[in-house]
Amino acid sequence: MSLANGRHYLAIPGPSVMPDSVLQAMHRPAPNIYTGELVEITHGLVPDLKMIAGTAGHVAMYISNGHGLWEASLTNMVSRGDKVLVCVTGNFGHGWADVATRLGLDVEILDFGKQAPVDPARLEAALRADTKHEIKAVMSVHVDTATSVRNDIAALRHAIDAAGHPAVFAVDCIASLGCDRFEMDAWGVDVMIAASQKGLMTPPGMGFVWFSDKALAEGKDADLRTPYWDWTTRAKPVHLYEYFDGTPPTQHIYGLRQAVDMILDEGLENVWKRHETLAGAYWAAIDQWCSDGALRFNIDTPAHRSHAVTTLSLGNGDGTRLREWLTDNLGITLGISLGFGEIGSDESHSYFRIGHMGHINAHMVLGIVGAIETAMSALDIPHGIGGSVAASSFLSQIGTQVSVTPSEAACSCCG
Ligand SMILES: *Cc1c(COP(=O)(O)O)cnc(C)c1O
Repeated sequence: MSLANGRHYLAIPGPSVMPDSVLQAMHRPAPNIYTGELVEITHGLVPDLKMIAGTAGHVAMYISNGHGLWEASLTNMVSRGDKVLVCVTGNFGHGWADVATRLGLDVEILDFGKQAPVDPARLEAALRADTKHEIKAVMSVHVDTATSVRNDIAALRHAIDAAGHPAVFAVDCIASLGCDRFEMDAWGVDVMIAASQKGLMTPPGMGFVWFSDKALAEGKDADLRTPYWDWTTRAKPVHLYEYFDGTPPTQHIYGLRQAVDMILDEGLENVWKRHETLAGAYWAAIDQWCSDGALRFNIDTPAHRSHAVTTLSLGNGDGTRLREWLTDNLGITLGISLGFGEIGSDESHSYFRIGHMGHINAHMVLGIVGAIETAMSALDIPHGIGGSVAASSFLSQIGTQVSVTPSEAACSCCG
């Protein structure tokens, strides 16, 4: 007998759970790419993607994962040898900085460790010190998917303004778009990137770079620009070919259309509120478990935590033991440790992550909470009792109060 049989639940921070209707929308023969439905659908995605990002600016679409977007954003913004300042709060900030270094940029890293958000005061000080305005771009992740920290992007914009610095401000929202509140124009973000496989609930393979008129103007002569990643034509295409610099990702476009419709039907405010509430249910359970034993949140302060992923440590390498037991015995896969200790070390094996982004609801969360509790008992991992009860009680109190009708839910930045 195996209790893991039945539908497997991949609860990692991307790829996230794909709605059946998204997969079904993709299950079709190759469509005509020159005229007809696919062309109309692609044109129609542009305003909706801008609405989800909270911008009246531009969006370029790519056949790409997130790593490609790191390169796409940089090659359109800056020139070889330019200086960029990267705020790092975990593995993903380092990843973007690494791409910048390999592109031949002069990279200054402001490292805030793995357990805290970017400190706006330190950013402001670093920018004030750059009296000659050599820094051309300030980069930060919104949510670092490795540490599960969520940065206050509006506060970083204030810091840049307080320093009177003209750098372009670029933000990686790959783990947060469609999960955590994000308002590109209202928060003064010039460039933003996100991929299809997280909050956008579509298989990996499409990526997006949103950019402001300022970023377009500043990057006009960027000499790192290469033909494929060039955002200029992609954002103002005449033919479908020009959106993707070649054959479009036909099936992905159908899937993304369905996923975006689901987000619009629910209402963006409701989507954010659902993520916040479900994260709250997890945290209520985890607070109980943490009251005894070695389990710890990586990010102590709830206000600094992502609503899409939670990073935890069990100590003693027990994170991996727990994950493997859950996969083998209960049909649930949680996220691995990323960026903590040497790969294979006890420290690394101590961490694990719960992905709670995209197409998830209360019974999925309650199922994982119960499953983690079961695993800790089965493995004799000491923990405080009452996690499931705490999550249920949290949801029973606020779970029914979160609905906003989509018409009221239009985000504040675009009315
Ligand atoms: C997932 C993720 C990436 C990398 O995306 P890939 O599609 O795996 O290349 C980059 N940044 C953040 C914040 C992410 O969550």
